[in-house]
Amino acid sequence: MAAEQRPKPDGFAIETNDVWRVYTVGDQDVQALRGVSLQIAPGTFHAVKGRSGSGKTTLLNCVGGLDRPTSGVVSVLGHSLSEMNDEQLTRWRRERVGFIFQSFGLLPTLSAYENVELMLRIAGAPRQSRRERTMYCLELVGLKQWAHHRPYEMSGGQQQRVGIARALANQPELLLADEPTGELDSTTAREILGIFRRVVDEEHTTLMMVSHDMLVDEYADAVLELRDGQIVARH
Ligand code: ADP
Ligand code: MG
Repeated sequence: MAAEQRPKPDGFAIETNDVWRVYTVGDQDVQALRGVSLQIAPGTFHAVKGRSGSGKTTLLNCVGGLDRPTSGVVSVLGHSLSEMNDEQLTRWRRERVGFIFQSFGLLPTLSAYENVELMLRIAGAPRQSRRERTMYCLELVGLKQWAHHRPYEMSGGQQQRVGIARALANQPELLLADEPTGELDSTTAREILGIFRRVVDEEHTTLMMVSHDMLVDEYADAVLELRDGQIVARH
């Protein structure tokens, strides 16, 4: 059967096929990704590990539609990202993907509740469902009692919990986290990894997490190792 007649395998949450990302800096080419092919089943927690500069953030950004590969295909939940124009990609990202960052990225003048609820306002959710979903997400990360506190009144671990609750607000099918425990001590990192595990199990979302953390192996379903822009191991 010719390739174009074959039914598309649509059982994966994330599928990449020979993805390259080459940055041009002056007259130099930097090959950040060199032919990455991977398949990730829905409802799983995958960790991506590798040294600084190995291409982890670039891979995450290509999967989340924040960046476009130089060549190759990225499909998320059956959507081929390269077939979307910038406007479609932005909308898709806003509606279907939750991002979590190392430095939390919370708005400092808003309470935990308001930080989470803002995502639902932007999405145009009605008032009652905004309230319910916001409280549900804060409860899921163990912050119900902290709903009306602002980020500066909270520990780093608590701020990252708000970051997770915020990413979950719109019930994303995909959660992408870039070194979310990078600024936390190991006890707090463990708490956060436990929350990610619970979120994946209870919300049936798919999580791809970049991490240097040794601890992540205990919580993830699988670990992908990147080296110089290539996947060199999967365990
Ligand atoms: P990691 O997240 O594993 O530290 P990155 O994906 O950030 O790695 O970077 C991979 C490689 O691509 C590095 O060599 C880095 O310097 C380069 N790189 C990343 N982003 C850019 C950019 N915007 N312009 C040029 N080079 C970049
Ligand atoms: Mg990085």
